[in-house]
Amino acid sequence: MELNEALARLDAAEKKLYAYNTASSALYLDGDTVAPKDTAEGRGVALGILAGEQHKLMTDPALDETLAFLKEHKDELDLAKNREVEELSRAVRQLKRIPAEEYMAYAELTNQASDVWHRAKETSDFELFRPCLEKLVAYNRKFAGYYDPDKAPYDALLNEYERGVDRAYLDGFFAALREKLVPLIKAVGEKPQPDVSFLHRHYPVEQQRKFSDYLMEVMALDRAHCGIGETEHPFTLNFNSQDVRITTHYYEDDLASSMYSVIHEGGHARYELDVDPARDYTVLAGGVSMGVHESQSRFYENIVGRSRPFIEAIFPKIKEFFPEQLAGVTAEMFWRAVNKAEPSLIRTEADELTYCLHIMVRYEIEKALIAGDLTVKDVPGEWNRLYKEYLGLDVPDDRRGCLQDSHWSGGSFGYFPSYALGSAYGAQMLRNMERDMDVWGPVGRGDLSGVTGWLKEKVHKYGGLLTPAQVVANACGQFDPTAYTDYLTKKYTELYGL
Ligand code: ZN
Repeated sequence: MELNEALARLDAAEKKLYAYNTASSALYLDGDTVAPKDTAEGRGVALGILAGEQHKLMTDPALDETLAFLKEHKDELDLAKNREVEELSRAVRQLKRIPAEEYMAYAELTNQASDVWHRAKETSDFELFRPCLEKLVAYNRKFAGYYDPDKAPYDALLNEYERGVDRAYLDGFFAALREKLVPLIKAVGEKPQPDVSFLHRHYPVEQQRKFSDYLMEVMALDRAHCGIGETEHPFTLNFNSQDVRITTHYYEDDLASSMYSVIHEGGHARYELDVDPARDYTVLAGGVSMGVHESQSRFYENIVGRSRPFIEAIFPKIKEFFPEQLAGVTAEMFWRAVNKAEPSLIRTEADELTYCLHIMVRYEIEKALIAGDLTVKDVPGEWNRLYKEYLGLDVPDDRRGCLQDSHWSGGSFGYFPSYALGSAYGAQMLRNMERDMDVWGPVGRGDLSGVTGWLKEKVHKYGGLLTPAQVVANACGQFDPTAYTDYLTKKYTELYGL
């Protein structure tokens, strides 16, 4: 084989994978947004065939041969090609480790589990979901051995979501958070809470849609390249660096919900749109990892979006959209209201301060489950015990307890810590950004171009060209969770006059 031929084969395989992914994503997006209700079956058939084709391509011996050849010629390849070979080889290796029949059985199980979980959650019936969860845990313990037989099972699973992250790393991280945050949350709890009633007046959906358009404009999300739709749970989906979609959900009695969903998903979209287009149609396209992605979405949502300068900058405009609802409300009142911190039961509704404690509960449970130190039937009891210990709350039922998240039903174990890591990475990025430039002057004028430019340079543009650890090192330096605890301490001390 000639080098040029091998590179052409690599390119063709990556473009094909891109096409399968794009087709699957388009079907998924359609199903979640505009497709009529009883049309899932046909999409399911198509999705199954696309998944089969993708599997065939990835396990084709010809691809293996091409990758092996390119590895032998690595000195003749540039950084991007070497990274493409590395990432694709890794994906192929892992896919091949799982025997085809187990792969299929697992796909069927997660499909079924998702349905069972929905019903179990609705009726708050953990026993209904328990058999599925037992199988999912067993499969994941087994798969962990396929992913990396040299690692403890939970470490292997964590590594799937955030390369280089393991229990030793997270134990240290969460211990540092717990030590600082638990007393801080307690101190906040002893202070009077701000008035949030005006956030729950009547906010018609039509007006909120216009407000979303405005927020996207502030974030410089070009509508010719970034669409917005409406779904039950907001998400971001990227086709390529020129075509990204976000979704939101409007509640007429809750202005902040969609407002911060749009800014959060907008942060994900900002990242995707800022990746160097040279990475398009390759395995290096898009954001590099879950943790780094969350660092960006939460940066825009919390660090910028809930900051005093940003609220002061956009508040006159918010009032133009909702003059009656916000009559008599000041920017300061609004800033305090959207930063109200209080222990609560539901992770997705948690505030910036208490959010990480929700993640810690899940981390402790997953760690014990996958290690075999906790049986599935004891999950509700352990969940409730940890919510009491970390957040001081009694969990009234499993619907608002261990059945609240969809992750486990989809087979995702080891995913949750990325949310907390992302928040911490973001705070450390802010510290470095503040050293490099005036962050808050421009933000206070509603100008986010400096912030976005910095993030693009340090994080976004690379896509998968650098590994997650390299991106974090590039933007944060040596990872240090105290940047995060310092950030939260400063912010909530000011908010609550501690
Ligand atoms: Zn997110």
